[in-house]
Amino acid sequence: MAFKPISTQTLQRMPMYLNYLKDLPVGGAANISATMMADDLRLNDVQVRKDLAMVGQGGRPKIGYVVKDLISDIEHCLGFNNIDSAVLIGVGNLGRTLLEYEGFSECGVDIVVAFDVNQSIVGTTINGKRILPVSKLYSICSRMKIKMGIITVGTGEAQGICDLLVKSGVVAIWNFASVRLNVPSNVFVHNDNMTSSLAVLSNYLVERFSTNK
Ligand code: ATP
Repeated sequence: MAFKPISTQTLQRMPMYLNYLKDLPVGGAANISATMMADDLRLNDVQVRKDLAMVGQGGRPKIGYVVKDLISDIEHCLGFNNIDSAVLIGVGNLGRTLLEYEGFSECGVDIVVAFDVNQSIVGTTINGKRILPVSKLYSICSRMKIKMGIITVGTGEAQGICDLLVKSGVVAIWNFASVRLNVPSNVFVHNDNMTSSLAVLSNYLVERFSTNK
């Protein structure tokens, strides 16, 4: 099936739909409506219908979606049948946690190897993933045709690592360093900064409780 371009927001909701559908009782109804999904997930039903229209044939009036077909369409959309290999650079606290996390396969991503400069961890293995010296990054990424890189080095090192990834053929970068990376136009960067996320929550608390005092 050929997929239409899907917005980032829609893609970000897909794992939630998938988990919801997979958690439905075994032996329950074979079909489900967008309204029921929207109610259970506290979303707008128009939004749910629009999202699901991006991945499959759409629901049928009064019948809804066939649950098993919808699961398969979402898995296909998320790349379950086409696992992307990724590399991670910077095995500090955050990098180690990501290497240990088993859930990335659910969105079709497998971190195959990690890199660091710290000689005390180079040569070790975390969750079955080898930690190699960063000097090997170029040769390994080029040889394995790796397209995705995860940056968990500190702010000062992130741009240099990004440049190296780009030179090695990586075109999709998940950046956890709190710095805007400079990349060519054919490279996509998704920034995830935990400090900024916490700042937003913290600011919410300040605004909410300072006005209610
Ligand atoms: P975290 O921020 O994850 O808690 P940390 O505070 O221990 O980690 P950072 O300075 O953020 O340390 O570095 C994260 C990891 O990145 C460390 O393991 C460090 O050795 C590694 N690192 C630093 N520079 C590079 C580099 N140029 N190439 C590869 N790895 C690097």
